[in-house]
Amino acid sequence: MNILIIGASKSGEAAAKLAKKLGNNVFVSEFKPQNEFDEKLINEFQELNIKYEFGGHSLDNIATYDLIIVSPGVPRTAEILKIAKQNNIKIISEIEFAYQNCKNPIIAITGTNGKTTTTTLIAHILNSSGKKAVVAGNIGIAFSDIVLDIDPQTIVVLEVSSYQLDRIEKFRPNVAIIMNITPDHLKYHGTMDDYVETKWKINSNQIEKDLLILNYDDSYLSNKNKLNQFTQNVQYFSLTEPEMGAFVRQGKIVLKEQHKEEEIMPISQIGIKGQHNVYNSLAAILATRSFEITNENYRDALSSFAGVNHRLEFTRELKGIRFYNDSKATNVNSTWFALNSFNEPIIWIAGGRGDNNDYSLLDESVKKNVKAIVTIGEEADNIGKHFAEMKPIYNYETIEQAIFEAYNLANEGEIVLFSPACKSFDMFTNFEHRGDVFKSIVNKLV
Ligand code: ADP
Repeated sequence: MNILIIGASKSGEAAAKLAKKLGNNVFVSEFKPQNEFDEKLINEFQELNIKYEFGGHSLDNIATYDLIIVSPGVPRTAEILKIAKQNNIKIISEIEFAYQNCKNPIIAITGTNGKTTTTTLIAHILNSSGKKAVVAGNIGIAFSDIVLDIDPQTIVVLEVSSYQLDRIEKFRPNVAIIMNITPDHLKYHGTMDDYVETKWKINSNQIEKDLLILNYDDSYLSNKNKLNQFTQNVQYFSLTEPEMGAFVRQGKIVLKEQHKEEEIMPISQIGIKGQHNVYNSLAAILATRSFEITNENYRDALSSFAGVNHRLEFTRELKGIRFYNDSKATNVNSTWFALNSFNEPIIWIAGGRGDNNDYSLLDESVKKNVKAIVTIGEEADNIGKHFAEMKPIYNYETIEQAIFEAYNLANEGEIVLFSPACKSFDMFTNFEHRGDVFKSIVNKLV
């Protein structure tokens, strides 16, 4: 087959290598200039006889391709996709391509927030209980990269973004989770309805014996009209008490199945902080239930899990002030959970690039839990204006100045929380870079 890969980032690179290993002719077309990519990538393409172009897509010979694999994030409106459609060429996403070459059991996790944490936690539960699991997908290791190298029993725990779900065809996870749905990526999706529909695609090919796990407390996910359409087994997680599923009652995780109910553990013993991580733990329990995990395994795994970097990550305590790096909070909802994860007053550092952010969702939390707000980045003005009547606001050009100010404002026993509620691209390469800069400055404070 002649395969065209659009995008040369991690998943494009992995799809190209997989397509080549499977004996296809492969051409990678990348919009960005070549100098934005590592020389290693080019050498690799040359060694493997993968053809490539950078700095734009040549459109003339598009009809010669049998299949197009598109990387996440390539806008749906891209000219090359329009022309491919006109030429009736099949377009699929990288996870669909990998899936078509995978026979392993798959647990797939999507949602607005909590994907990486829950994906990592599920793999931790499985691996620490003597099973074999690998993580892949949106988490940074492309599905296409691992698919030919794993043995048949290995459980693939796959983080999938809405971008990757956009162009699936047969993708059918044995277990699918939608963690939650709140506004995000609206610039790409255009409307909230479109974003919600894309998330639901995760279960579009599931059959009766598969399992769909949903957040009972999320209004988009407990939509009854939608549920009537499902043939597969549906289970819920919740902080209230649904008829069945995993939930919290009097501070304990309870698992209720058709004919039995059992207590797993107190939520106070979960290793990671905050209400959002209770949700993540409940979802992870439901997802792994059919893999013969004992309650003792759950207790050990959930209490030993240390969380993932940049997600409400404890950075340092200095003069009784605790600093937390929550750089991965790239939308308002994730910051809501961060602001509600502490009993102590918070000096909140926020800002970055907005995505039609609605800050009113944070009003109550800010009034109740925040002492002062320090803003940075493109959204600084919007945040400042929104909360000006509620709390003192301090605006700074650099993250370094913002951290100094926050440190200066904080008293012993208080929290400095960097939870931007915004994307990072106005000032940093990505959220990891942003979080690393935060941590390195905090670690140098005296
Ligand atoms: P994702 O992979 O979906 O972006 P992460 O696990 O990386 O999710 O977490 C992203 C941000 O959201 C972090 O700030 C984290 O503390 C917060 N978060 C984690 N789990 C949840 C959840 N279930 N609901 C809301 N926010 C969450």
